[in-house]
Parts: sequence; structure tokens; C-alpha cells
Amino acid sequence: MEQKFDVIIIGAGAAGMMCAIEAGKRGRKVILLDHAKKIGEKIRISGGGRCNFTNIYSHPKKFISFNPSFIISALNQYTHQNFIDLINKHRIKFHEKKLGQLFCDESAQQIIDMLKFECLQANVTSKNNTLIESIDKFELFNVKTKDINYESESLVIATGGLSVPKIGASKFGYEVAKQFGINIIDTLPALVPLTFNENFLHKCKELSGVSVESRVSCEKIKFEEGMLFTHRGLSGPSILQISSYWKLGKQIEINLSPDQNIFDYFQEKKEINPKQEISSIINELLPKRLAIMICDDLKISGRIADMPKKLIITVADSINNWVIKPTGSEGYRTAEVTLGGVDTKELSSKTMMSKNNEGLYFIGEVVDVTGHLGGYNFQWAWSSGYVAGQHV
Ligand SMILES: Cc1cc2nc3c(=O)[nH]c(=O)nc-3n(C[C@H](O)[C@H](O)[C@H](O)COP(=O)(O)OP(=O)(O)OC[C@H]3O[C@@H](n4cnc5c(N)ncnc54)[C@H](O)[C@@H]3O)c2cc1C
Repeated sequence: MEQKFDVIIIGAGAAGMMCAIEAGKRGRKVILLDHAKKIGEKIRISGGGRCNFTNIYSHPKKFISFNPSFIISALNQYTHQNFIDLINKHRIKFHEKKLGQLFCDESAQQIIDMLKFECLQANVTSKNNTLIESIDKFELFNVKTKDINYESESLVIATGGLSVPKIGASKFGYEVAKQFGINIIDTLPALVPLTFNENFLHKCKELSGVSVESRVSCEKIKFEEGMLFTHRGLSGPSILQISSYWKLGKQIEINLSPDQNIFDYFQEKKEINPKQEISSIINELLPKRLAIMICDDLKISGRIADMPKKLIITVADSINNWVIKPTGSEGYRTAEVTLGGVDTKELSSKTMMSKNNEGLYFIGEVVDVTGHLGGYNFQWAWSSGYVAGQHV
């Protein structure tokens, strides 16, 4: 059986649905195809179930790409305020958690329901549980599934990145790009917990559950947010953020007390309260289990007054400038996003269409645009989906 549409969109996630809504509103006959049983699964699990759907500080600087200026046009064409207006139209209540991050008060399901409703209003046909067998381009695009051959003028690839394969992630989008001669920037898991050698892992396990505000840096890039010790290594926002910049073989520096110069603090303590135990001073600064671990590791005890300057410097350094070398990351199983993807030099930033393949569009995470943690990745999905929706 054959069916003809103006636009076929493969991938009914954040970007695909936004594109479908916009194209449908323009009167285009749109079909959204997805291989998953349920659509919008990444939205459902996002932001701890409350979906951090955008960030009021959305700005191209909050994104990583081989070609950073590519991001500007889409973010300007559809801003975080445009998405907030849509949320308000549907009376979805939300709040700013921190650092401009907007979350639903109730549930991420509200965002999925809103997008599905908008798709219905825009007469979008949606088919999940649909395996794509092949794609060809003759005069029209031809998308073959088991039962139906779909044809269309425009084809949009919105199949996302590689993270969390158990809810539908696949390399499909990259393969379509290759089929049409489009370059791919190497992909890597990003916004992902980091792993360490046995020795350090043992410490992480002992400290599992301890969290501490930290400044984590890798070369010139720094993030100051919470850091969490886990049974598998280090996680928490500051580690997830730096993971997008860290490369195998590089070390990271952790400042466990970013607002204080610990050496000066120790010197002050030495003058004001020389009898105070070093362990109790560290305990005032850091969570107890972490303070104990530092004292045990450095084999320090006794009064601050009795500690030689050299040792005070070593202790201060272990708090202000703790240098460690990750051995890897937890990979796509737990990564929030995929770094790399369809090379933006191959796409028009104004339309998201392939420069060399008329009618073929790539949007969302499959493209080499990766946001920082904090709602930026969804904003990219909305913005790039909107932009393509105006042109397909
Ligand atoms: C645990 C977790 C939490 C996150 N939390 C946040 C957050 O709070 N804020 C934020 O900004 N970002 C968050 N992200 C990132 C965000 O979810 C993604 O960047 C965003 O969903 C990307 O949108 P997309 O439409 O490009 O891809 P997706 O939303 O991944 O959608 C892709 C769709 O394509 C379908 N598909 C894949 N392969 C095929 C195929 N072969 N055939 C047919 N269909 C296919 C999939 O089933 C899926 O429905 C989170 C990610 C994870 C994993």
C-alpha cells in the first residue's frame, strides 16, 4: 500500500513533534513515524519526571558544536519565551528551580500531552510502533515500512541521539545522513557520570550519597554546581557538565570549597583558635564523611597549631585543588545526551535543510548541537523543530 504526505517526520520526540505541529499549522499534510511503543519517552523521564523544558538564560554560549554560530538563527527564531508562551497557553504550571531552569510543577507528562494535543489540532497523523525498513529518494522521498510505502516531498530526521537505548535511542539518524553523503562529527556520551580506577572507586563507594557544592574544571572550562559521590564514581550537575568537555586521558580539578581560600582560612584558624583539631576545622567546611576521608588519606590529626606550613598547604590543596583522572564515563546507558552528530556545516542554519539534499532536514539532538545541563537541550529541540516546521 502507498500513502502520500507532504512531510514525513521520523522520530516523535521533542523536536519531531514540534516540527510536526508547525508544519501542520501551515496546512502541510504531515505524518510522524516512530519505532517506539510510546512517543515522547525522553520527555517523560526528563528532569526527574518534571521535565526541565527550557532555560531563561538560553544563549548560543550554552551549547557545544563544531560550528557554534550555527545555533544562533534557530534560537532567535524560536526563543525560550516562545515555548513559555505555549506552556502558558495550556495552563501548565511551572517554576524556576535554579540557574534559570524551568520545570513543570506537576509532571513531564503534561508536556507530552500538550504536544500530542497540538499535533491533533494541526491534523498531524502519528504512527508509533513503526519500523522503517528503508529510505530512498527518487522524485519524492520514499520511506518503506512493513505494510506501507510512504512518499513525501520533505523528509525530516528527528531520531535523537544515542543515549538511553532502552527507551528507543538508535543510530538511525546518523545512518540516514551517511546514506545521503552527509558528514557526521564523532559521537560521544555527554552529560554523563564519570568513572575511575579501583583505588578511587573504593573511596567513591564509601562516600556514596555524599554531595558537595564544587567547582569542577577541565582545562579552561569550569562549572560550579553540586557534585555527588556514587557507587560507580562521580556524578551530580558539575560532573555531568564537565563530562561534555572531558576527553579520555585528561584530568579534572575539583575545588571542594570554591568560595574560600582554604590555606588562608587555616592560617586564620591557627591564629584565632590554635588548639582546634584540624579534623574539626575540615568538618566545618565539608560533609562529615568527606572530612574524615581527607584526614585519613593524608594521615592528619591533632591541633592546627602543631601542623607545619607544608602540611597545611597539602591539606588546603586537597580541598581547593583536588586533581583526579577519570578512566571513562558510564556511557550511553546513563548519558543524558550525545555529543557530535550531523555536521552543521552540511545544514542551513535558517531552515535545518541539508545543503546538498533538497527536502531533507535534520533537527534536535541528532544534529551536532549539545546543550549544557539545565533545559538547553529541549530548547534546541523546540527551536530546531520550529525552524524546520516553517520550511518543510
Ligand atoms: C534521563 C534524561 C533526562 C533528561 N532531562 C533533560 C531535561 O530535563 N532538560 C533538557 O533540556 N534535556 C534533558 N534531556 C535531554 C533531552 O531529553 C534530549 O536532548 C531531547 O529529548 C532530544 O530531543 P529529540 O527530539 O532530538 O530526540 P528524542 O526526544 O530522543 O526523540 C527521538 C525519537 O526518535 C525515535 N527513534 C529513534 N530511532 C528511531 C528509528 N530507527 N525509527 C523510528 N523512530 C526512531 C525515538 O523512539 C524517539 O521517540 C534528558 C535526557 C535524558 C536521557
